[in-house]
Amino acid sequence: MSSRNLADFLSVNPAQIRKDFSYFGDFGTRGVGYNVETLIREIKKILRLNVVHKAALVGVGNLGSAVLAYPGFAVYGFDIAAVFDNNPKKIGRKVRGITIESASNLNVLKKRKINIGIITVPQDAAQETADALVRADVRGILNFSPCCITVPKKTKVITIDIGMDLARLPYYMPTG
Ligand code: NAD
Repeated sequence: MSSRNLADFLSVNPAQIRKDFSYFGDFGTRGVGYNVETLIREIKKILRLNVVHKAALVGVGNLGSAVLAYPGFAVYGFDIAAVFDNNPKKIGRKVRGITIESASNLNVLKKRKINIGIITVPQDAAQETADALVRADVRGILNFSPCCITVPKKTKVITIDIGMDLARLPYYMPTG
C-alpha cells in the first residue's frame, strides 16, 4: 500500500505519512509502498501492543459491569483477568467467569503480574483505590471516576470522562 493510499484513509498528506514512519525506521520500499501486515506488526511493537496485557478492574457496579461486558479490549490484546469490589454481597460472586475479590486484597496483583488497573468506583473511593493499585505495583491506570487522582511518576493515569467528550460536541457541530 502506498503512502498516498494511507494518507487518503487518514485525510492527511502522503509526505506526513512518510515522515512519521521515518521516525521509527524504514518500513516501506520506494516505489512499492508498505506491506500492511508488516506495518501493523511494527506499529503494535512501537505502541507495546504486541503482547497481551493483563488488567484488573476495581468497582463492579453499573459502569464496571458494562466495561467487563465490552469485547473490544481483546482486539488490542487486553485481558481483564481480575475484578475487585468492597461490597460483601458482591465478593465471591462471578462476573463474566471471573470471581469478584475483596478490594482489600489488591496487593495480589503484584504476585499475579497484573500491572494495569481500571477504576470504576465512586469518586470518593477513587484516590484510595489508586493508592492501593500503586502499592500493588500497577504501572498504568485507566480512571473512569470523575476526579483527578494523584499518583507517583512511575505510574501513568489516563482519565476518561464521557461527559467531557459530549461537552466538546456542540462547539464542533455545524450550525445553520
Ligand atoms: P456504582 O455505584 O454502580 O458502582 C460502584 C461500585 O464500586 C459498586 O459495586 C461499589 O460496591 C464499588 N465500590 C465502592 N467503593 C469501593 C472501594 N473502595 N473499593 C472497591 N469497590 C468499591 O457506580 P457506577 O454508576 O458504576 O459509577 C462508577 C464510577 O464511574 C463513578 O465514579 C462514576 O462517576 C463514574 N462514571 C464515569 C463515567 C465516565 O464517562 N468516565 C461514566 C459513568 C460513570
